[in-house]
Amino acid sequence: MKMTSKRGFVVLLLVVAVVAGMGFLAYKLAVNGENWATLRANAHLTENGSFIAAGNITDRNGEILAKTENNERIYNDSERIRRSTLHIVGDTEGYISSGVQTAYKTQLIGYNRITGLYSLVKNGRGNDVELTLDSELCAIAYDKLNGRKGVVAAYNYKTGELLCSVSSGSYDIRNKPSAEEIAENKNGQYDGIYMNRLIDGLYTPGSTFKIVAAASACENKQGIDDWEYTCKGETTIDGVKVTCPRSHGKLSFKTAFSNSCNCAFAELSADLGAERLTATAKEFGFGEGFSFGKGQTEKSRFDLSEAEKGDIGWAGVGQYTTLVNPYHMLSLVGSIANGGTAVLPYAVSTIATPEGRVVEKAAAESREYISSDIAKKLEDLMRFTVEDNYGDWRFKGLQMCGKTGTAEVSDDEEPHSWFVGFSKNSDCPVAIVVVVENGGWGSSAALPIASAVMEGAYKALS
Ligand SMILES: [Zn+2]
Repeated sequence: MKMTSKRGFVVLLLVVAVVAGMGFLAYKLAVNGENWATLRANAHLTENGSFIAAGNITDRNGEILAKTENNERIYNDSERIRRSTLHIVGDTEGYISSGVQTAYKTQLIGYNRITGLYSLVKNGRGNDVELTLDSELCAIAYDKLNGRKGVVAAYNYKTGELLCSVSSGSYDIRNKPSAEEIAENKNGQYDGIYMNRLIDGLYTPGSTFKIVAAASACENKQGIDDWEYTCKGETTIDGVKVTCPRSHGKLSFKTAFSNSCNCAFAELSADLGAERLTATAKEFGFGEGFSFGKGQTEKSRFDLSEAEKGDIGWAGVGQYTTLVNPYHMLSLVGSIANGGTAVLPYAVSTIATPEGRVVEKAAAESREYISSDIAKKLEDLMRFTVEDNYGDWRFKGLQMCGKTGTAEVSDDEEPHSWFVGFSKNSDCPVAIVVVVENGGWGSSAALPIASAVMEGAYKALS
C-alpha cells in the first residue's frame, strides 16, 4: 500500500513535469519560433548570411524587384531601379531595418506558427510581397536627384498607396559597398546610407511650415482675408531681426503666402503666440509617430516652451528648433488634398503564397488632422501659389497646389530645398514631398524634381 502510493506519486510528478515541459516548449515556440526559423545560421534558408528561399518582391505592375533563383537572391536588371527602390525593398543582412526584406522576413520565407516552414518546404520558396510602388516612377525621382542626398515620395492621397519612395544616398545592392568603404565614407557619400530618410529623417522645414502657420491664422484670426502687410525686406520682433530675400511691398494674406514673405509670416506668428501655434501643430500630428510597415516613423518636433517672441516669429517661418519628418509632411499635404483627413501612406500592398492565395492585405489607416473648411482654405492658398508664383506650366493638367521651402541649416552649408504639394485633378490624386539636402533654393532644386515626378505619376495613373 505504501509502495503503490509512492509509485503513484512518482508517476504524477513525471506527468506534471512532462506537461509543464510541453507547455514551456509550446510557449517558447510561439514566442521564439519566428526567430528560430529565420535565424541566419539556419542552413536551409541562408547562404553567406543571405536569405535564399524568400519569395518574390514585385512593384504594383508586377515588375520583379527581388526573387530567388537557384538559391540566389536576384534583383531587378536595371541599376536605377535597384538603387531607387533599395530602402523599401531593403537588404538581406538587416542593415536597412525598415526594408521589406528585414521587416517582413518571416512572411517572405513563409513561416507560420502553426505549420512552421511548411509552405517553404512545399513550394521551395516563401510568400510573395507586392508593393504599392511604381518602380519606374522611383527611378525617375532617383535620376532627378542626380546623386544629391534627400527624399522624394509621392502617394495616392485617397487610398494611401505609396507610388514613389526614394531615399538618397543609396547604393547598388548588386555591388554593395564594403564595410571598409563605408567606414572611410569618402566625401560623406555613405552618410546615413542604411537609413530610409522618408521614415527616419528629420529636417528643418523652412517655408513649407508656413502651411501650418497659415492654418493657425485661419483658425484663430477673424477677417484674415482682409489682413494687410507691407514688407520692407526686414522686420524686428522684440529685438530679433527677420529678413526676406527682397522687399515684397504691400501684401494680402494670400500674396504673403504665395510670395513666401518671412516678415509677414513672422509678424503673424508672433501675434498668434506660442499656445495657438503649438495647438495647430499638434492638430497636424507634430509629436506623433505613425506606423509604417512593421515600424514607426520619426516624430516631427515643434517646441515653443522656451521661445521668446522673436523665436516664435522664426518658428512661424519654419526655422528655430522645428524639425519635420518627410513621411509626416507627406501625410500633412495629403490631408489638405483630402478634406482635412490624411489616409496614411503605406508600401506593402499584399502578401500571397506562390499559388496566389492572399494571406495579408493592406488596410489603410486614416487620421483626421484639420476641419474641411481649413483644408479648403489651405488648398486655395497652395493652388494660388502655383498659379501665381511657380507656374502651371510646370504641372500641366494637374491643377497643382504647392509650397516650396528653403530651410537654413547652418552658416557654412547650403539650405535644404523643399517642395510639398498635390494635384487636384481627380485622375491623379497624388501628393508629393521632395527634400534635397543642401540643395539651395526650393524653387531651383526641389520644384523641378516635383514637376518631373508628378508628370510621371499622371502618366502612370491614366
Ligand atoms: Zn517679405
